[in-house]
Amino acid sequence: MEIEKYLKEFEKETCACGRRHLFTVSRVIVEKGAIEKLPNLIQEAASKKAFILADKNTFIAAGERVCAILNNAGIHYAQYVFPTGEIEPDEKAVGSAIMNFDPSCDLVIAVGSGVINDIGKILANTAKLPYFIVGTAPSMDGYASATSSMSIDGLKVSLPSKCADVIIGDIDVLKNAPMRMLQAGLGDMLAKHISIAEWRIANEITGEYYCERVAELIRTALKRCVENADGLLKREEEAVKAVFEGLVIGGVAMAFAGVSRPASGVEHYFSHIWDMRGLAFGTKVDLHGIQCAVATNIAAGLYEKVLKTKPDKEKALAYAKAFDYQAWAKELKAFLGTGADVMIALEEKEQKYSIEKHEDRLNIILEKWEKLCGIIREEIPAQKEIERILEKIGAPKTAKEIGIDCDLSITLKATKDIRDKYVLSRLLWDLGVIDEI
Ligand SMILES: [Zn+2]
Ligand SMILES: [Zn+2]
Repeated sequence: MEIEKYLKEFEKETCACGRRHLFTVSRVIVEKGAIEKLPNLIQEAASKKAFILADKNTFIAAGERVCAILNNAGIHYAQYVFPTGEIEPDEKAVGSAIMNFDPSCDLVIAVGSGVINDIGKILANTAKLPYFIVGTAPSMDGYASATSSMSIDGLKVSLPSKCADVIIGDIDVLKNAPMRMLQAGLGDMLAKHISIAEWRIANEITGEYYCERVAELIRTALKRCVENADGLLKREEEAVKAVFEGLVIGGVAMAFAGVSRPASGVEHYFSHIWDMRGLAFGTKVDLHGIQCAVATNIAAGLYEKVLKTKPDKEKALAYAKAFDYQAWAKELKAFLGTGADVMIALEEKEQKYSIEKHEDRLNIILEKWEKLCGIIREEIPAQKEIERILEKIGAPKTAKEIGIDCDLSITLKATKDIRDKYVLSRLLWDLGVIDEI
């Protein structure tokens, strides 16, 4: 079934989870030559003049073609092309986009992937205009999300912006994306093994909302990506399509659930921590999806260790009692710079380290231990399986390979403090084994 129809099915009736999953994207077109449909889509949106936003590279990848098609169709447009291909998602880039915006335009069309899409969403939201994205790489799952990943005052934030009204994935363009971006896209998909497992685990331990239908939507998309992984290095159309559609589904699933759970777990927090260190100390960072791929591999290994763990109540209680939060907050600040302040403020509100709260969670964990292990076995493949897929697509497997040389055990420990989300590192802390694992 076409992806658009498939996702619209969700709206038809109230889901078993009690929610109505509304699909807010009007059109998703993923096929060869999809760009050719732009004139019709612009007409449907009743636009008189479009504003095209691209960077130097994405303009060459698809922007020129978009302009030629609009010229042929006699559609008016203005454009701004960032003079480089390496834009930081910050105030300066958003400022450039807004200062170069033509206010006589009534539609924003971004041509690009990660950063251009994030900026395009902010521009369309600020100008209160409909927003089209012409994807140039299946590299991350922000196409259908309503937030922009930005840095403000040197801090990484997820800014509410706008979900695309139209998503165009032209396979002829996507398959020619840089190989690193294709690998990143599959990496962001592989992460979903961990995110779904952690969503279920959190549902068991904290009673957090969970929807099996949304989880199954992700599993199906992920399975298709893994089955086609062989073709990615050869840029085969089926493989590229599976990844692009999987990433769109990842964004839609988050909108369906109203939380990031279906698409991001502890592996995304590893990536987030590395990005924070990059901003604070100028350390090396890589593409979001590449970092997620590496972190998924790390997390799969850690979950194998969880399966071998024998929970010990006395040990866990003693660990929580002896935990020195002030010392940890100091270590966090040294590791992350000013970015740690938000995390420390969050803990003041959440109080997850309180001995009473810990004991409550621990009792549930002990009671449900076999069930939790069952979830891990069902959702997360063995680490060597993740490694095999990464090898198959030529993607890096370790933090070292991508130049990230910070302490991975501190990275793991810091992931539990990013948001008030129950993830692997919180489970390890609750069990009192995070230092030894
Ligand atoms: Zn549901
Ligand atoms: Zn992601």
